[in-house]
Amino acid sequence: MKRAAPALEAELARLTGLQLRRSRTTVEAFPASDRREVRLAGGRRLVDFSSNDYLGLAHHPALAAAMSACAARTGAGSGASHLITGHGAEHERLEEELAAFTHRERALLFSTGYMANLAVLATLAGRGERVLLDRLSHASLIDGARLSGAELRRYPHADAAAAARLLARDPERSALLGTDGVFSMDGDLAPLPELSRAAREAGAWLVVDDAHGLGVIGASGRGALEHFGLDAEAVPVLVGTLGKAFGSFGAFVAGDADTIELLIQKARPYIYTTALPQPVAAASRCALVLAQAESWRRERVLSLTARFRRQAREAGVPLLDSLTPIQPVPLGSAATALAAQRELEEAGFWVAAIRPPTVPPGSSRLRVTLSAAHTEAEVDELIGRLARCSALPRSSAE
Ligand code: PMP
Repeated sequence: MKRAAPALEAELARLTGLQLRRSRTTVEAFPASDRREVRLAGGRRLVDFSSNDYLGLAHHPALAAAMSACAARTGAGSGASHLITGHGAEHERLEEELAAFTHRERALLFSTGYMANLAVLATLAGRGERVLLDRLSHASLIDGARLSGAELRRYPHADAAAAARLLARDPERSALLGTDGVFSMDGDLAPLPELSRAAREAGAWLVVDDAHGLGVIGASGRGALEHFGLDAEAVPVLVGTLGKAFGSFGAFVAGDADTIELLIQKARPYIYTTALPQPVAAASRCALVLAQAESWRRERVLSLTARFRRQAREAGVPLLDSLTPIQPVPLGSAATALAAQRELEEAGFWVAAIRPPTVPPGSSRLRVTLSAAHTEAEVDELIGRLARCSALPRSSAE
């Protein structure tokens, strides 16, 4: 321990020097039911344009009430893993409801999306096989591929033809093709119809992690698959999270009965961990009902997104090609992104700078996210501030 200390210090100093050192901000409790602000120590309030609470459900009183009512019945902790004595009625019901929502035979709950992706990749792929992932896939898909022991190849972002070429190159070996449905840092959609075709032609698995699409896009909020009109045959394995649009916590894998049964039998991130607390599952069940019953939330966040884009274009604020509530403002260097974050913070907005290794070097950005809980005025004010932000490149539109 003692000998390693200088190396640790040097590594921390290196991160600081590169403007890549990260820090946490402690957010104070905030009782407002439609929270769209964060309150920092000292009482300062910032409008939060950084969360993944797209539908504004994370602070909905009904979710909190479902959680406390369940806690009164089940206690706070589940006490054991699902395969021992940790699997409760709330888990079981939520799995049934998620299977129905995604039109799949079964769904399996995980504690986090990170673990769900580790489980799926490491169970469905193995040594001697291949995993092909989009270059911008979420870290958990990449780590799952590493855990699987399969050979990992990454194809250029959203390039289904490149994925198909890689699949065709080695037809004898089993392969798994994996992608985000909506890319977490860019907000764009994967070319799922083309990827599905390529996977089917090659007899490969297709795994879509739709953490940021479910609840938000598609005519009834069923995500990127619904957006493209793809069924369970076209995309056999779907991963979803409950801590984003659904405002709760946890994740699930939806698929056919055999796939889910195999995960229960073999997935180490499922087997060797304590089951999610049942009150959390109760909050997710409540969110699933609200997300479907209150379609205005989805309509609202998408209309605020359109408003944000329209005004950004008029104000000369650079954007990426995203139609989802993830609206990154590309800035290039980590230092510029950090400077922009600080400037916005002074003006009362919380917009996180995203830097390497979360995004490739040279593509640091502000990741603006919209929520149904925002007001039009807040969106307008943010655009006004962004347009005046000294860190932003001046565009010809100004
Ligand atoms: N997949 C994607 C695409 C994500 O963006 C995230 C969260 N950032 C995850 C998986 C992990 O989900 P969780 O936060 O539930 O671990």
